[in-house]
Amino acid sequence: MPIRRVVALSLILSLLSLPVLGQNGNTDLLARIRKEAMEHSQIMKTMHMLTDVYGPRLTGSPNHKNAAEWAIKQMTAWGLENGHLEPWDFGHPGWLNERLSAHIVSPVKDPLVCEALAWTPGTKGTVTAKAVQVVLPERPSQDQLNIFFSGQKSRVKGKIVLVGKQTIVPVNLNPPAKRTSDEQAQQRFGPNARPFAFPTPSPTPTPDPNAPKPLTNAQIAEQLDLFLRDNGAVVRVNDAGREFRQIRAFNNRTFDVDKAVPTVVMSNEDFGRITRILADGTEVTLEFNIVNKVYPEGTTSYNTVAEIPGSDKADQVIMLGGHLDSWHAATGATDNAIGCAIMMEAARILKTLGVKPRRTIRVALWSGEEEGLLGSIAYVKEHFGSFEAPKPGYEKFGGYFNIDSGTGRVRGAGVFGPPEGASIMREILAPFKDDGVVGAVASRSRALGGSDNTSFSQAGLPGIGMGQDPIEYNSNTWHTNLDTYERILEDDVKKNAMVVAWSAYQLATADTLLPRFSNSDMPARPPETAAAQPSTPKAKPAPKKVPISRRRGRR
Ligand SMILES: [Zn+2]
Repeated sequence: MPIRRVVALSLILSLLSLPVLGQNGNTDLLARIRKEAMEHSQIMKTMHMLTDVYGPRLTGSPNHKNAAEWAIKQMTAWGLENGHLEPWDFGHPGWLNERLSAHIVSPVKDPLVCEALAWTPGTKGTVTAKAVQVVLPERPSQDQLNIFFSGQKSRVKGKIVLVGKQTIVPVNLNPPAKRTSDEQAQQRFGPNARPFAFPTPSPTPTPDPNAPKPLTNAQIAEQLDLFLRDNGAVVRVNDAGREFRQIRAFNNRTFDVDKAVPTVVMSNEDFGRITRILADGTEVTLEFNIVNKVYPEGTTSYNTVAEIPGSDKADQVIMLGGHLDSWHAATGATDNAIGCAIMMEAARILKTLGVKPRRTIRVALWSGEEEGLLGSIAYVKEHFGSFEAPKPGYEKFGGYFNIDSGTGRVRGAGVFGPPEGASIMREILAPFKDDGVVGAVASRSRALGGSDNTSFSQAGLPGIGMGQDPIEYNSNTWHTNLDTYERILEDDVKKNAMVVAWSAYQLATADTLLPRFSNSDMPARPPETAAAQPSTPKAKPAPKKVPISRRRGRR
């Protein structure tokens, strides 16, 4: 190679501050990571433990804590160090549904498909009662709601109350694609990625200034629960509103079992059947037996942390994580045992290969994500602070990789920070072109939402959200009663661990940390109440989480 080209090449490479990707040692490392990931994977074993043995892992529940303790034990057995549970204040007791049976007993006999709403009480043994349907007025004012409730008092007493009309779920003639096409992946993560435009909200009609002020959904929901409790309703039944008996069951928004009656979310098909029979004028009798248990010790929850200590830059940290907590209707496989299993596996691969990262590589499995990213927010605050209020760890933080979009293959990364940060990630991901990984894009969003990487980017730190193929996530498994071990695509998730192991090692070994926004270029932190938006630019709206204030039931 002519000397001038050697000089130019080494200049470029030193600008990237990366280990030389083409060097023999690094090429060899990539081959070794690939072999370990694909031929000696432990991911499905980890998934079996986190889902079948410990799931569901609702924040504050003993299942979550048991899963966390197992993960520490397993990572320690793999050679990770400093494994521990880090407490944070959840402020609500733990809750678990232990038993639920639901039947229609008249005019026909048949089991019903239901899930309990979290943080609601159980029934006192088996309860049998007539069903009534209560359809609230739309957007009522307080006066209108009061009048409505007083007319319903005698109807709900001693009854099982179906709340609302049945949602009509149209047959979907255009099922969504399971893989992102190469073209879409390029648009989202390629070098000429189109910046993601958040959809403009449709204009809200200007209210009539003389009309009474409508209540918010949260106000209505809270008053409805108290109305049912205070007027002797036996069970509340909500419509799941989804096809194929899918159920998403979240929580009573007060997290207080004393503020609601026993509540279930019923499959749309069963809810519709009962609705139609009641509409015939025929009486319907239902029977429920629900056992829920509250765990006062759950007010303290835990993040699960273990690490591979670095060498000459051990005080600088690269983090990998996913949330270990799940909703309770299934065993939380795609949301998000798999994100945890991938990050644990990435660390296992590096440890097994005996590589010596310069920076510390730390795995963190969060809790409280589903209730609002609570565990990761607490962790970032405690260890790093924020751009506005930095702690000593703030300057020494080198990037946080997050996986929380199901089982699909990684197709790219969204990196919070200036374009130079995304360029470095793009170089790091380049060896995985044949595995479908397209590149990386920069993000300026400090809005909280989406997943735990936004707890980092909100603080001004380089949160890195991995974008994945959708597979069956938004359509079938996300937060539903179908989110189980069976839905994991083994080949995809093994490859994801390989990509993360390589990427984390590169960041942990580079000469410098990922570039950050300069003080003058740091985007302003949005107000706490701002609507959550995905931190990763998305070609089209994808699963995203909405803050509590915007939710009808937690997502
Ligand atoms: Zn999740």
